[in-house]
Amino acid sequence: MSIPFLNLQAQYQQLQSEIDAAVARVLASGWYVLGPEVEAFEQAYARLVGCEFGVGTGSGTGALQLALLAAGVGPGHEVITVSHTAVATVAAIRLVGARPVLVDVDPARYTLDPNHLASALSPRTRAIIPVHLYGQPAAMAPILDFARAHDLVVIEDCAQAAGARYQGRPVGCWGDLAAHSFYPTKNLGAAGDAGMVTTNHPEFAQRLRALRQYGWHTRYISQEVGLNSRLDPIQAAILAVKLPHLPRWNRLRQALAARYAQALAGTQARLPQPFADSEHVYHLFVIRHPHRDAIQAYLRQQGIGTLIHYPVPVHLQPAYQDLGYGPGSLPVTERLAQEVLSLPLYPELPTDAVDRVAMALREAEEMFRQQDQD
Ligand SMILES: *Cc1c(COP(=O)(O)O)cnc(C)c1O
Repeated sequence: MSIPFLNLQAQYQQLQSEIDAAVARVLASGWYVLGPEVEAFEQAYARLVGCEFGVGTGSGTGALQLALLAAGVGPGHEVITVSHTAVATVAAIRLVGARPVLVDVDPARYTLDPNHLASALSPRTRAIIPVHLYGQPAAMAPILDFARAHDLVVIEDCAQAAGARYQGRPVGCWGDLAAHSFYPTKNLGAAGDAGMVTTNHPEFAQRLRALRQYGWHTRYISQEVGLNSRLDPIQAAILAVKLPHLPRWNRLRQALAARYAQALAGTQARLPQPFADSEHVYHLFVIRHPHRDAIQAYLRQQGIGTLIHYPVPVHLQPAYQDLGYGPGSLPVTERLAQEVLSLPLYPELPTDAVDRVAMALREAEEMFRQQDQD
């Protein structure tokens, strides 16, 4: 029996009648762009995050772009973020015409290391984008202190951390703006692309609503140049069905992560470390292993799906060579790219699958030990 890395149909099957009814309702309504379904989900999700405003977008990338535009970030500006992230974080900065300044991550937390902020700062710096990677909140307190001291906008990248908490409060309301993704694999996933920006600032919310559709402040009249990045009402209706289940799904992820930690104790795998200041929601269960590639190959032979998040750091990818970071410039990030391995983890994963993955990893380690002895 194989263990796939993901099983996206499982969640649909669980909620099929409600989801089908929600989709049918949108189709029958004739309201196919924005409208009441989108507004209802925007409010419900903003409430979960503890933010006043939610502005639905076409994707998480769109949310990041719109947040940057709303904050007035553009050509001539620099934005500090990490290279150890989904490429979308950095792409959004480029797409608004600004320059990404990439810093290394904390070797235990895997999120933006606040110790590198001072050396990354320049007179052109306008914003910082901390990424709550794998479901682990970034160290927001020192990041926010630094941002306040230097008058910088903070945009949280919450794409992997729906429902995660930092110092007891949900991520997504710590910075000035926050970008969320409802890409199907995320902790709260749509049946297609979807995203949102949350904020407590009414002027940002108003500007975001204009920027997401052509810069319209009133219909057909653009006050500024905008995008087309709107949350689709069919996706909003599906997400509204799923939203009440998010806390329970996150608890299931946490329970499976605890089971992995137990089952992998004593192996060479380095496990995600808990931090007292935050609640991890395990979008991904990422271990580090000195023999990562061999372990992955062995697990694949056993029918166990794994992925690498991420195999090539953004600063070493072809599209970002002109930023001028060579190999060796971000050592923690580059080390992680060699060692990280994401094991299967989703709310519907059976507990015994975790035990089987752990057992397979032990077998692989035992095989390497014997090969070393021969
Ligand atoms: C998924 C993701 C994004 C992009 O979201 P899309 O909805 O796929 O555009 C941005 N940042 C991070 C960290 C992500 O994981």
